[in-house]
Amino acid sequence: MHPSDFRVRTPDGVAEDWPVDYWTLEPYFADNDRMPGVAGLAGDPAYPPHQPTMPPVPLGRTGTLYVRAINKLGWHWWPSDNAVATTEYDGRAKCINLGHCTPGCAQGAKASVDITYWPHALRARVELRTRCRVREIAANEHGRASGVIYYDAKGVERFQPAEVVILAADGIGTPRLLLNSSSARFPNGLANSSGLVGKNLMLHPWPQVFGYVDEELDGDRGPQTVIWSQELWNGPPVQPAVFKLRCERRKGLSQCRSRFLGSIWAKTFATWRALMALGRLWSDGACAGKMCCSWSPN
Ligand SMILES: Cc1cc2nc3c(=O)[nH]c(=O)nc-3n(C[C@H](O)[C@H](O)[C@H](O)COP(=O)(O)OP(=O)(O)OC[C@H]3O[C@@H](n4cnc5c(N)ncnc54)[C@H](O)[C@@H]3O)c2cc1C
Repeated sequence: MHPSDFRVRTPDGVAEDWPVDYWTLEPYFADNDRMPGVAGLAGDPAYPPHQPTMPPVPLGRTGTLYVRAINKLGWHWWPSDNAVATTEYDGRAKCINLGHCTPGCAQGAKASVDITYWPHALRARVELRTRCRVREIAANEHGRASGVIYYDAKGVERFQPAEVVILAADGIGTPRLLLNSSSARFPNGLANSSGLVGKNLMLHPWPQVFGYVDEELDGDRGPQTVIWSQELWNGPPVQPAVFKLRCERRKGLSQCRSRFLGSIWAKTFATWRALMALGRLWSDGACAGKMCCSWSPN
């Protein structure tokens, strides 16, 4: 995230400005970097200051190829952050490039909640109840959350009283539960005095460009993202769509993320710009000239 991601309505006239800014959330970003551990290199001029906890993932053959191309353009690039252990970290072994990260990491180097947060929580005697589905958050006569009504693994409805309810069910599940928790006192759902719960969901559209090269690379092993270029991120707006582009050199594929627009124009232009950018990057002769493109919201 960039500070500018939080304000797009004012400068660009699209989507909405957030009611909080980057710097309010930054301490929580830093905490969340520290718990799972982040490999990276401090000092990226394109990002606000932050302190990765481990050395960056090595560039490898594919990263080096990409860096050569970016250097020819004189563009920004920097070793990307990765939630992958490059040294032993909090009881987890370091990455040894066993294979592609996506299917899972037998080494335990790739961070995920089950091997980072949960072991600490379980040691602190948190009770984990799996296969349960919360239906609504209950509120007491003072209007305070008092527990949750949920279905257990057998589908039996239960009530769990609580002094504090922490709701972290992602961008869809969180507003869904707040809206589902309506009552006579809160007819529009809980925590919704603004009427904004469930509105203004913002995504990062994600065009992907695939290139094929003749030389042997190492995209099948280790973390996929090794560098990123933010050359176009804060560039001048492109009309009629306004977007910001970040290109990531990923082993096996290249990806560009654009700041949210939420319109068909965003999709079209972001994809087009991504193709142009990557086409230029790969045009140093290393690319066999075969490219395809896809788009997915993420
Ligand atoms: C395919 C894919 C690839 C991604 N890759 C990356 C990546 O490379 N890097 C990156 O930074 N981000 C990536 N993301 C995004 C990242 O996974 C999310 O931003 C992140 O997981 C959000 O965390 P969260 O804790 O808010 O929500 P989640 O991780 O979604 O956790 C919410 C939890 O709440 C539970 N829940 C929801 N409703 C209820 C209910 N009613 N009762 C009980 N439980 C409920 C859900 O089951 C879930 O376990 C990716 C996302 C996807 C889908």
